[in-house]
Amino acid sequence: MTETKNDPTLEASIPTASLESILCTEELQRRPSRPPDYEKENCALVKLVSALADSPSTIFQTLAETIQDITQCDSAGLSLLTRDGKTPHVDGKRFYWPAIAGMWNPHVGGGTPRNFGPCGDVLDQNRTLLFRHFERRYPYLIPVNPAAEECLLVPFYVAGKAVGTIWAIMHSDRRKFDAEDDRVMASLGKFASSAYQAWMHIEELKTEVAERERAEAEVRELASGLEAKIRRLVEANVVGIVMFDLGGAITGANEAFLQMVQYSREDLATGRVRWTDLTPAEWRDRDERAIVELKATGIFQPLEKEYFRKDGSRVPVLLGGALFEGSRNEGVAFILDLSGQKRTQEQLRRSEAFLAEAQRLSQIGSYSWRVATDEITWSDELFRIYELEPPLTPARLRTRVHPEDLTLYEKMVEQARSGGNDFEWQYRLLMPDHSIKYLHAVAHAIRDHDGRLEYIAAVQDVTAGKLMEEARDKARSELAHVARVMSLGTLAASIAHEINQPLSGIVTNASTCQRMLAAAPPNVDGALETARRTIRDANRASEVIRRLRALFSKKETATESVDLNEATREVIALSLSGLQRNQVVVQAELAEDLPTVTADRVQLQQVVLNLLRNGSEAMSTVDDRPRHLVITTERDEGDRVRLSVKDVGVGFDSRAAHRLFEDFYTTKNDGMGIGLSVSKSIIERHHGRLWAAKNDGPGATFSFSIPCRREEGLTSNETGPATRMPSRRDAA
Ligand code: ADP
Repeated sequence: MTETKNDPTLEASIPTASLESILCTEELQRRPSRPPDYEKENCALVKLVSALADSPSTIFQTLAETIQDITQCDSAGLSLLTRDGKTPHVDGKRFYWPAIAGMWNPHVGGGTPRNFGPCGDVLDQNRTLLFRHFERRYPYLIPVNPAAEECLLVPFYVAGKAVGTIWAIMHSDRRKFDAEDDRVMASLGKFASSAYQAWMHIEELKTEVAERERAEAEVRELASGLEAKIRRLVEANVVGIVMFDLGGAITGANEAFLQMVQYSREDLATGRVRWTDLTPAEWRDRDERAIVELKATGIFQPLEKEYFRKDGSRVPVLLGGALFEGSRNEGVAFILDLSGQKRTQEQLRRSEAFLAEAQRLSQIGSYSWRVATDEITWSDELFRIYELEPPLTPARLRTRVHPEDLTLYEKMVEQARSGGNDFEWQYRLLMPDHSIKYLHAVAHAIRDHDGRLEYIAAVQDVTAGKLMEEARDKARSELAHVARVMSLGTLAASIAHEINQPLSGIVTNASTCQRMLAAAPPNVDGALETARRTIRDANRASEVIRRLRALFSKKETATESVDLNEATREVIALSLSGLQRNQVVVQAELAEDLPTVTADRVQLQQVVLNLLRNGSEAMSTVDDRPRHLVITTERDEGDRVRLSVKDVGVGFDSRAAHRLFEDFYTTKNDGMGIGLSVSKSIIERHHGRLWAAKNDGPGATFSFSIPCRREEGLTSNETGPATRMPSRRDAA
């Protein structure tokens, strides 16, 4: 069917004639009527009925032709009301012309409005109407060629509801419709009703079939899409996939599965690869449970087990599966290789064990503390250090902290709770047997996803180190004393020389004085002068002895304001004769504006003495160059002073550099190996640094640098209070 051009201006134009003026229905009864031709009529009806049975889709056209044949009109056809979705146009708003025989046949598909047209009039009046020149009222029919002289229109109904009309048209007054036409058309109208129902039925069937076909096509498409997706999954070999039956057979498998169990596709084809055989005996009960589940529900939930590989080794797997729909015996399963995961778990377990062992060996425990919830997790080693058993309570933790450190402990906890910074501190534990443990804690602050504060901390039992440190400090101070005595031993000769000089001066001056007084007349002025010189020499000798005493005595640490240049000059003076004996030329380059330092004068002199002696000894075998020793003092960065002793001696091997300052390290036959280590600890006690450097040319330079002022004075040799912290390692 094609759609006729629908011209709204034409349809809406004002009618020129009234309905009454175009109707002449009553004339049907008045006109002379032709006799009925029952034979023809019956024949036509029989043909119609068989056409309805044979080809219902063309029945309307057959009906139109029958109307034309029986009424001998020029055009005949049907007008049907449009139906929702099934026919063009809006539901019930128009008539369309599904079949036309005769001269109007080219207009098949065209139509008229429901509310303004001859078909609508017929349905409104619910009876047959005869129109004459209906285009006079309905202008939209004007262009339909040829014009209708007379049109006999008959309504027909389905279940009491009008659905359309059949009509016959004369385009000339060649013949006029009569009562016989009226009767025949009424009977054909009834047939039209049956044909319409049959056609409707067929249309509905067609729609149903079309819908079913579309649905089937969709399912087919979906299925082919699904199939493609499943095939993709199988071929991607991300997981193992097998087709199985409950009897133990594997009817299909992808590469991933075959690789997992190390069988080939040929092995699979022989049917020898059976899941029942792949399963080690101790896992069979799991299989049995899975089969029970499969039979009951059609699926089995993922389970872990092992398979034998072809070489007899085992592979841990996770598998889950389902029976095929409608099958009681066959199904599909996915299999994941868990080897990697198991390995990772094993590694994790081992590294945890290592960590625990490492903590035990190093006596370092660890804990985590979620501040918001006060959730604390301790490592085993921390329980061992505290000598506590779980569970932990804040109270129990506090019984253990040394009473003297408790205030600090609580302050630290409070600060940590509100701070969120890393911290580090030392504190003591008082154990039930009254022994003391020294702990060093380093805590690192982290935040979880929700920004909640958590600390991860390492706690080390440093008791042994503390005790060792104490013992070492004691030994050092003893060693320092020994070193002093030893150095002085080697200085004996030069000291004797120093004292000898003023002594012989005293003796000479005293005898001169004697001689001058015994002369006649006595030379009193000369005697007075020589007596003065005697006193001067005696003072010089006693000064030497005083210095000697100072070096000998095991005096406790004493800080004073020290002029490093002067102290150095004294040491040079004391060492001079020894240096000269060794043919060493000393050059002192002492900075003029050197600030004083707060220091232990004798200890600093001890260091300078050691450096001078070492420099001199390093050059004792040097014969090819002058044995030159340069002592320099200078200001150093950051309000410090620096002293360096540079020699041109044998120098030292870079590989041994780190050992020079070790206790008892010596390369000398008669060496003790304590000079440098004691010097280093003296300088460190002055918060300074002592180091050695190889010269560009021959020899080495030993230097120390110390701060000028230290308000707190020197670090004591004695063990200080256990709790020196907190020192904050603030990440900011
Ligand atoms: P000792 O002098 O008894 O060996 P020290 O601790 O003073 O002990 O020195 C340790 C070692 O450092 C020396 O044996 C020597 O090998 C090296 N050393 C010290 N001073 C110098 C120097 N100026 N040049 C080269 N090596 C040196």
